[in-house]
Amino acid sequence: MIHEVLIWPDPRLKTKARPVAEVDAAVRKLVDDLIETMYDQDGVGLAAPQIGASVRIVVIDQRPQVDPEKPPKPIVLINPVLVGGKGTAIWNEGCLSVPGEFEDVERFETITVRALNREGQPFEITDAAGLLAIALQHETDHLEGTLFVDHLSALKREMIKRRMKKLKREMISEGKSAREIIRERDQAEDSEEAPHAEGAL
Ligand SMILES: [Zn+2]
Repeated sequence: MIHEVLIWPDPRLKTKARPVAEVDAAVRKLVDDLIETMYDQDGVGLAAPQIGASVRIVVIDQRPQVDPEKPPKPIVLINPVLVGGKGTAIWNEGCLSVPGEFEDVERFETITVRALNREGQPFEITDAAGLLAIALQHETDHLEGTLFVDHLSALKREMIKRRMKKLKREMISEGKSAREIIRERDQAEDSEEAPHAEGAL
């Protein structure tokens, strides 16, 4: 089932999510909904709080962005824990909960994560790099109630917050989705299409 993705500012995005106690049928259903919603939004990753579920589950699939010919292969991370970050990398990040906004954020260059998979078995991704490393850090941030805008200056964050509030008003008054409004705005401005506009996290 495809869910609505919450748009910041929203108190549900600022809440620390609770751990999954047991990977049961209800958890697997939520995992499947997250995957379906992520692909529907052309996202690279999605965390459960973004659809209003305050539990520690994230899904990631960078393949549609880095290897579009290959079939989708989502990574499911339940109760993920980042255990080792090395180096620094600046990445121009976007977020499905902050649609149309992309800003440089400093992250670890490589990261190791431990989590449970969809079957509840533990696994580790060691020294993830590139977009996967960024997505792992961005999505686990969501479980702490932290968004990429929290890594920006207060001034930039306030400017983006004003644009998001305006976007939400337009969604209601025009009865359109955030993506429709942003697409129409980009076309009206005749701006060059951002190459990674569909790669939000
Ligand atoms: Zn995000």
